[in-house]
Amino acid sequence: MILTNYHSHSHYCDGKGSLEEQVQGAMAQGLSAFGFSSHCPLPFDNQWSMKAERLPQYLAETPQLAEKYKHQIQLYIGLEIDFLPDMPPNPLWEGKLDFSVGSVHYCGLNQAEQPWEIDGSSVAFLACLDALYGGDIQVVIKKYYALIRQMVTTMKPDIVGHLDKIKIHNAARPLFAETESWYVEEVEHTLRVIAQAGLMVELNTRGIYKKGLELYPSPWIVRRMKELDVPICINSDSHRPEEITASFDYAHACARAAGYQTKRVLLAHNWQDVPL
Ligand SMILES: [Zn+2]
Ligand SMILES: [Zn+2]
Repeated sequence: MILTNYHSHSHYCDGKGSLEEQVQGAMAQGLSAFGFSSHCPLPFDNQWSMKAERLPQYLAETPQLAEKYKHQIQLYIGLEIDFLPDMPPNPLWEGKLDFSVGSVHYCGLNQAEQPWEIDGSSVAFLACLDALYGGDIQVVIKKYYALIRQMVTTMKPDIVGHLDKIKIHNAARPLFAETESWYVEEVEHTLRVIAQAGLMVELNTRGIYKKGLELYPSPWIVRRMKELDVPICINSDSHRPEEITASFDYAHACARAAGYQTKRVLLAHNWQDVPL
């Protein structure tokens, strides 16, 4: 089976280890191709994004590594790009990437009028949910999926990142059940927009090996994606070399159980479908 991963972090953002250490980890775990996807620089301070001044070096380092390891593995340069509705395309990286992962990490502003992180600490998330929304998760989740739909139709990333990650806060306080009709409708609407746009959705294993949670997105969503013919790729969102194929067996099993027979991989600079 061909193994690949196009969602990975390193010391350029909040991951551990150099790009070369990620490459060595990828080769040790049998990957045919590997993509770097550091968090893109943002116009405000945060703990996990790449600093803008490091971006030129990040972009320059990949071709050197690709050349050095060309007989062992294919390497691709990407970014995990935050979708912020008012952030214009950025000339620092526009046109310089092999691929992009588009992710929603922020949902408007919090009670301190700072960008509100939806996948940071649950304590901070819940404090804002209570302060600004009276604990009404339904309003927030509808805003979250609306942002994803807007990202899909405007940014058009190659890969839609960790689609239902906002569910993580259910572990800290039960906020909603994924079977509730309003939630199912919101997901359904979003999947239809993604299918219409022809984008790929990643099966992201980080919640499994890092937090003991489910796949992003949950298996019932993967089944619906298959019915809508949404292509998938399988990514670990690794933040250190040893995580590069973490929980991949589970993700492949979920894909097969949903009826998928192929996954999409970037090989020879072409996205193509290969057997699962
Ligand atoms: Zn992310
Ligand atoms: Zn990530």
